[in-house]
Amino acid sequence: MTRLVNAPGDFSADAVRGLALAHARYVQQVHGGVVRSTASPAGQVSVVLGGGSGHYPAFAGWVGPGMAHGAVCGNVFASPSASQVESVVRAADNGGGVLIGFGNYAGDVLHFGQGAERLRAEGLDVRIVTVTDDIASGAPAEADLRRGIAGDLLVFKIAGAAAEAGLDLDDVERVARRANARTRSLGVAFGGCTLPGADHPLFEVATGTMAIGLGIHGEPGISEAPLGTAAEVADALLTGVLDEEPERGADGYHGRVAVLLNGLGATKYEELFVVYSRIAERLEELGLTIVEPEVGEHVTSLDMEGLSLTVTFLDDELERYWRAPVDTPAFRRGVVTDRPARSGVIRAAETAAVVPGSTESQELAGRLAVAIRAMAACAVENEAMLGDLDAIAGDGDHGQGMVLGTAAAASAAEEALAAGAGARTLLTRAGAAWSEGAGGTSGALWGAALTAMGNALSDSGGAAPDELAAGVRQGAEAILHLGGASTGDKTMVDALVPFVDTLAAARASGASLGDAWDGACTAAATAAEATSQIVARRGRARTHGEHSLGHPDPGATSFALLMAAVSRELGPAARVNGELT
Ligand code: ADP
Ligand code: MG
Repeated sequence: MTRLVNAPGDFSADAVRGLALAHARYVQQVHGGVVRSTASPAGQVSVVLGGGSGHYPAFAGWVGPGMAHGAVCGNVFASPSASQVESVVRAADNGGGVLIGFGNYAGDVLHFGQGAERLRAEGLDVRIVTVTDDIASGAPAEADLRRGIAGDLLVFKIAGAAAEAGLDLDDVERVARRANARTRSLGVAFGGCTLPGADHPLFEVATGTMAIGLGIHGEPGISEAPLGTAAEVADALLTGVLDEEPERGADGYHGRVAVLLNGLGATKYEELFVVYSRIAERLEELGLTIVEPEVGEHVTSLDMEGLSLTVTFLDDELERYWRAPVDTPAFRRGVVTDRPARSGVIRAAETAAVVPGSTESQELAGRLAVAIRAMAACAVENEAMLGDLDAIAGDGDHGQGMVLGTAAAASAAEEALAAGAGARTLLTRAGAAWSEGAGGTSGALWGAALTAMGNALSDSGGAAPDELAAGVRQGAEAILHLGGASTGDKTMVDALVPFVDTLAAARASGASLGDAWDGACTAAATAAEATSQIVARRGRARTHGEHSLGHPDPGATSFALLMAAVSRELGPAARVNGELT
């Protein structure tokens, strides 16, 4: 259980604030996360890490000399938003370019990718390296699709040391990629974790068994096996990881390995040491030399019971950076000379004031705000159901993500409306707030959709039904473009595409927008239900594809529900007023 909570939605923000107070010598809070509170040499490459919260020490605990310059902190298990990424990167930049690192998850790829794209457009040299160490999450042939788990520590420690040594951005990126290519992990879980505010864990593991191939966001294991002795668990982890040992004597590898035995949050250090004693013994028998091993909690998953083994197959360069001194709140090694405090105040970017729209556009904005409020109420009503659906093959946060996203969008919409915003401004602000408030894959996609729909409208014109329908189409295109999914991948796209197609067809045959919308809602609901027959190929559920069979996709389900809520709220009133004809 996570017992010490004020409000569940504030958990991550409260934790980051506390961390910054407890470790003021190392970090200071900025919008979206933390950056070093110590000065870094001008021109040094900055390393910015990130991801959802719930993994401490990853990632904010690794900010300090020798490792990261900043960490972007999302909500629990949810990616931070693109604007959080931009804010932390700007604050962490020393003029030498920025390497952004995170574990490979769909939501993080979307949000960090969007943030990086915008920063590049401003002229900042930004590179992205994703960690893909989890061997259970994909076959060797598709190693670059694997998830990132505890290997984050080794890859980012090595990348941070390379930046500290003064390498330029090309070289820091090269070293980070090489560290990732040489790092493998495998984990087992004995019990799932419980999200703040929830009363039951995201999954359970039967007594006497262990789930093999856990994710660090409460995703269930990929297979189950009887739980043996500590030595048997050690052997199972070692066999898995060493299966991908590179050839000794080739490509700079001579049997020297960095080893991390990582606790997931609720496994005792002494249990870890019991397992480690076997691992050390076996590695020695196999002729491998362990370099600076780490045994402890480094990449956790709230209160998950379990552990993972990570091995980095070193070459001379990787070993040098793995051994280098580091001084951060949660990871220290060797001696780092004291750094002066960073000077200057870091200001958060200010949001521009709203330029009032035309009366007609303000009226439309008012109706759009009502629609968004209806979506927020619908998300609250369905939060638990959507969370349970996402826990089957995903990480259980879809209900939370939709509630946070719609609530943020609704309050941004209210604020914009009060300032006289037209339709375009209202929707683009609501979109930005959604993606910022929700994090997660669906947050990025919904945020982009609202923003795109807003950009298709104006602050001066009215809203002919065809313009609105075209705006909806633009929103859908944004989801297709950003997410890259097609129908049949078992994502929200499976409900979205029939929705917009039916809407367009009904309009073409002369239906009112209200009637066309109702028909589109029915098509979306049918299509969402039909996703239960599909095995997921995209997003977080890809790894657990077959678990998803027999259950509808959470994102498709929420899409259909939200569109129906809009129809209920706006449809009848609008039709009586004759506005949406
Ligand atoms: P996360 O997967 O990051 O935890 P959520 O749980 O909020 O995010 O959302 C999960 C939903 O996102 C899935 O059920 C699916 O409908 C949708 N999704 C995942 N990947 C994609 C994608 N590439 N394109 C469109 N939708 C996607
Ligand atoms: Mg999820």
